[in-house]
Amino acid sequence: MSENKIPVSTTSDAVHQVDNHEVESAVRWVDQSQSEKVNLLGMTYDQLEAFFVRLGEKKFRANQLMKWIYHLGAESFDEMTNISKSLRQKLTQIAEIRAPDVVSMKTSVDGTRKWIIQVGGGNCIETVFIPEDGRGTLCVSSQVGCSLDCSFCATGKQGFNRDLTAAEIIGQVWIAAKSFDSLRQGADRAVTNVVMMGMGEPLLNFDNVVSAMNIMMDDLGFGISKRRVTLSTSGLVPQIDRLGQYTDVSLAISLHAPVDDLRDQLVPVNRKYPIKQLLAACNRYLATCADKRVITVEYTLIAGVNDGTEMAYQLADLLTDLPCKINLIPFNPFPESDYQRPSNNAIARFKDILSKRKYTTTVRTTRGDDIDAACGQLAGGVKDRTRRKQRYTLSHELRREAQEQELESKIAGMIRNK
Ligand code: SAH
Ligand code: SF4
Repeated sequence: MSENKIPVSTTSDAVHQVDNHEVESAVRWVDQSQSEKVNLLGMTYDQLEAFFVRLGEKKFRANQLMKWIYHLGAESFDEMTNISKSLRQKLTQIAEIRAPDVVSMKTSVDGTRKWIIQVGGGNCIETVFIPEDGRGTLCVSSQVGCSLDCSFCATGKQGFNRDLTAAEIIGQVWIAAKSFDSLRQGADRAVTNVVMMGMGEPLLNFDNVVSAMNIMMDDLGFGISKRRVTLSTSGLVPQIDRLGQYTDVSLAISLHAPVDDLRDQLVPVNRKYPIKQLLAACNRYLATCADKRVITVEYTLIAGVNDGTEMAYQLADLLTDLPCKINLIPFNPFPESDYQRPSNNAIARFKDILSKRKYTTTVRTTRGDDIDAACGQLAGGVKDRTRRKQRYTLSHELRREAQEQELESKIAGMIRNK
């Protein structure tokens, strides 16, 4: 752990972080004795401690509560037999343990599982579990939709409604773990890895994402190692620097192009934070990690857009000074997009060039596409506040109509010329 990070308790390699304003807000809940019950799900260890101290209780109650919630999946205080009856009654009156509601759960033929989760106001988010040999990776959402408008992403096309709360973020891990019945004494862990690669840009929901990740890594929470919690970002430079002050989870960046001109089109936030600045921020982030780390560079391969051999060479040159591995993601189609997935040959050629330049390069296999759970296909149900969805649907329809008209006139011409 580097010096600028502030470990508070020693129960975990993941650390309990002090974030004063989080603690203050927990205390405010108690002080104001709000009519709404306080949701203890999503509170960090520090917040829970502050909560109990304000109730006039001992700090170790936080420890007990976390074990009940995250180790044993308790949903009610009645189950908490090592807590006195009077405290349980008090907690029942003022607090609750509430995850968001699951609308549906589907399991793909390949074992991938997807939940559609309701978060109020007609909004839904999606969470995906991907089982692989010896591990289970959960892809977690951080926002309802996304305000960044990457041209190849289904989430971006839905527009944006709001940030998820810490309870809604950690709730996704809780729901998944419970659905595999892995939150009970002696059970095997189902979720071994978490990737913040679902809907939304996690660094635009900084505080809630950091709190939720702390609970994922805390031994009193899900106890997942910091190397197995990955945050993926489209490249927000100041927030990457800020992240380095709070945590050292694994970092992935969505690069998708080796040159600014093209990246400006694919990932519009590049106009604000161009590639050179982004890579410098990645190196600064790595410098804050105490152990040896690499950045995962995500590169969605889109046919005829960024999959040419020239681009592979440019990418190899670009990344020479960044300790990294490269994850190629063949584009996953969705209804509002006209992009195409490259041929297997094009993917293999691209990978080969990078491998020959000594980059560890993997191609992400498409999982769960029979249940629309593949990367970039998560659309959820977003009550859009940006009117972007409306614009896209309209422009997509207009484009389709224009293509159909063009085709019709071509056919008419062919018939005339016969
Ligand atoms: N907002 C964050 C995390 C969510 S997106 C980010 O952009 O990094 C998770 C990953 O899926 C990103 O690398 C993103 O570029 C990729 N992705 C988005 N749409 C895709 C699509 N249609 N096909 C393949 N990958 C896609
Ligand atoms: Fe948002 Fe990431 Fe999709 Fe871009 S790729 S629109 S940042 S979710």
